[in-house]
Amino acid sequence: MFVNLTDVLTNEGKVLPMRIEAGIMQVSVGGESYRVLKSAPAEFVFTNTGKGRARIEGKAVFTFGLTCDRCLQPVEKEIALDFTREVMAPDVEAESSVEDGRDFMDGYQLNVEDLLNSEIVTSWPMKILCKPDCKGICPKCGRDLNTGTCDCDTFVPDPRMAAIKDIFEADKEV
Ligand SMILES: [Zn+2]
Ligand SMILES: [Zn+2]
Repeated sequence: MFVNLTDVLTNEGKVLPMRIEAGIMQVSVGGESYRVLKSAPAEFVFTNTGKGRARIEGKAVFTFGLTCDRCLQPVEKEIALDFTREVMAPDVEAESSVEDGRDFMDGYQLNVEDLLNSEIVTSWPMKILCKPDCKGICPKCGRDLNTGTCDCDTFVPDPRMAAIKDIFEADKEV
């Protein structure tokens, strides 16, 4: 979905609020594709900041259908975006290579989907958990440990503790 920003880029002082239904159905993050369950129209404010320049302020909320990293149960995760970006008209010389606003521009048209996609990737959580204290699944029997415990022996001795135990046992022998 493209939005024509000619008006904002060419009229000094121009402010253009806009609600945009981007229609993003899925997002690819780190090679994985994730499904969007719900999304509200994104709220944008485009503001002219000089000749051929504009600031984009955007707010959007997406709900994704994900899987808990620990117990593998389905999780609905809401990602709220609140961002500001600068974009330029095609005839404006970039002052530095840091400016990345051009990535989302095709001439005077803003590619809303690319912009939102990039913001979602930036806001993506490092870990996806169904709840902060999810106990995960038993590595032996695969039981979801949030629903109860199993009888598997999953005790892994801490090597430092084992060393202390050895010292105590050596004392006993003396
Ligand atoms: Zn979980
Ligand atoms: Zn088990």
